[in-house]
Amino acid sequence: MIAVSKTKPLEELQKAYDCGVRDFGENKVQEILKKAPAMPADARFHMIGHLQRNKVRQVLPYVTMIHSVDSVRLALEIQREAQRANRAIDILLEINVAGEESKFGFSPEEVMDALSEIRDFSNVHVCGLMTIAPFVENSEENRPIFKKLFQLCVDIKRKNIDNSSMAVLSMGMTGDYVVAVEEGATMVRVGTGIFGAR
Ligand SMILES: *Cc1c(COP(=O)(O)O)cnc(C)c1O
Repeated sequence: MIAVSKTKPLEELQKAYDCGVRDFGENKVQEILKKAPAMPADARFHMIGHLQRNKVRQVLPYVTMIHSVDSVRLALEIQREAQRANRAIDILLEINVAGEESKFGFSPEEVMDALSEIRDFSNVHVCGLMTIAPFVENSEENRPIFKKLFQLCVDIKRKNIDNSSMAVLSMGMTGDYVVAVEEGATMVRVGTGIFGAR
């Protein structure tokens, strides 16, 4: 479980930490730069929001995983900066399963081509897929989205692409994480349900 702490003050993160939370999700580079150095060393930060290429260098030292890789160009920039820093970084490819115009991410049709380019990046490990499902009143409406992402993961795994493990499926938020877990999520990103309304 990733505790999504975006917009919340450091004291709230510390309270969650004291209850045992170690994985925090943030969607803005500036917030990670402020919070990560102030938290205990074993707190892990996950970048879950759209990441601009010119901010990769700044944020890289503070994140364990980038969930929101939505272009090959971004993956290449992460590769360059990770190599420069002499480290490896875990990433997920963000998939726009529902094809919403307002959202970032690869379409399910694009993802194989992207993986065949990223497979050669030595400092970037593709650990799986991430999606942000549409906002819905009834979480059941998102079940087909989660099923589709799971199936995509299975299809990719079958192709045994180097450098792509597909062990992680990051899907489900406060309103729909139960359905997401039923459909195979290995990471859920819960904000409101932990920290209250933003
Ligand atoms: C804000 C956010 C969440 C958490 O949403 P809640 O509904 O508060 O649980 C999860 N994933 C992403 C990418 C987010 O931006």
